[in-house]
Amino acid sequence: MDIPKGLSLADYQLAMLNAQLIFTAERSRFYREKLAGVDLPLKALADLQRLPFTTARDIAGRGADMVCGGAGTVDRIVTIHSTGTGGAPKRLFFSGGDLKRTVDFFAVGMRYMCNAADSVMVFMPTDSENGVGQLLVKGLVELGAFPVAYGLISDFGDAAAALRQREYHTVIGLPSQIRKLALLAPDIRPANVLLSADYVSDAARETISRIWGCEVFAHYGLTETGYGCAVECPAHDGQHIRCDELLIEIVEPEWADPTPEETVTAATGLVKPEGGWGEIVITTLRREAMPLIRYRTGDLGRLIWGRCACGSELPRLDKVLGRLRELQHDVNIYRMDELLLNRDEILDYRAVVAGGRLTVTIEAAAAAIASISATASTAPIAETAEVADTASIAPAAPTAAIADTTSIAPATIADWESVLRGAWLESDITVRLAGCPPATAESAKARPPGWTVKRGVERIGKAPVL
Ligand SMILES: [Zn+2]
Repeated sequence: MDIPKGLSLADYQLAMLNAQLIFTAERSRFYREKLAGVDLPLKALADLQRLPFTTARDIAGRGADMVCGGAGTVDRIVTIHSTGTGGAPKRLFFSGGDLKRTVDFFAVGMRYMCNAADSVMVFMPTDSENGVGQLLVKGLVELGAFPVAYGLISDFGDAAAALRQREYHTVIGLPSQIRKLALLAPDIRPANVLLSADYVSDAARETISRIWGCEVFAHYGLTETGYGCAVECPAHDGQHIRCDELLIEIVEPEWADPTPEETVTAATGLVKPEGGWGEIVITTLRREAMPLIRYRTGDLGRLIWGRCACGSELPRLDKVLGRLRELQHDVNIYRMDELLLNRDEILDYRAVVAGGRLTVTIEAAAAAIASISATASTAPIAETAEVADTASIAPAAPTAAIADTTSIAPATIADWESVLRGAWLESDITVRLAGCPPATAESAKARPPGWTVKRGVERIGKAPVL
């Protein structure tokens, strides 16, 4: 990262932090109120702990008041619809300079896995101007690589065909999408894969690296961090933080949901001891349009200190364990990903908890479907479809253009149920195959309101179709 020579990270960050705080207190109405009474400049980085937090609710409620210097400096506004803000959307504002620094970060971070002249396939959303995919592509161009902006995958046969058109050195995408693509197109041989924009399960990493014979890297970023935040180096021992742009603290998490705003103060969010797990809190150091001071991300993580095997002395971010809001449910997408995504016969799944019942709809590989059909007398699909919600899941039949050649062990619905029962003994669990006949209108209506175990795709502003 871009730390001037001869300056320690702490000295550099303190200087940048004070400049950011003074700029923000002068130019943002929200922070002028929030930072009133704070003596600036701060004497030490630890003084940051005395400042109040900024929450997702603050952004949803007063985002426009946070903007510095008037709308003239804003080049991009991102709207995020989140369940964590009481329904109100969050709006994030970025200046041209903010976007350029994200491009620069991507250009630097991508050097961990590719070089100039390498071809890179980008399966991230690329349809919005200066969205994460476009900024990544610009970063790759800055690096001298040859990126192809494909976008999120909806047709896996088409995505596989695109990958076969030339030798791609690096493939970038969402963990669940790239894992499914690897299962459906095991002949592809990229050197590296970068997973981002969602929880990176060990199961997905293992599957992708085994099937494609590649190295797998993780990146953590939120719209709030200007998309880029921390990326793994080839040592695979934590993600290198964008230290010249972001200061990360780990604080005592707030588990309650929803969190009453008045309890979210410096007094309750104590900073965890070095290396402790807690909520990731970010402070921007150079943001122009909408700086964020002590923003609670709602994600669970921890910092790794000490020298990385790659030689860097800067702190790293360990594997991010997911959204606190979802982790407080016993049944959550992260545990389920680890349980189900290490079974090659499962391409993807969707889960809904309603009325105390967990219903998991599995999109299985063709070989597994054949195996289940052969044993249909012992595991009749029609029975398990009783509470199924098929309205939003694609049929299971894989695209004909895809070679489904991965070796698949015989599977039954009972196998999957037993995997889930092993984790949630008390749960009433129903497992079904995607593409079954839909539930009747009556039974669908009769179901009590529940919640969906969903992926964190809200961060990139657009959900892939499962
Ligand atoms: Zn490293």
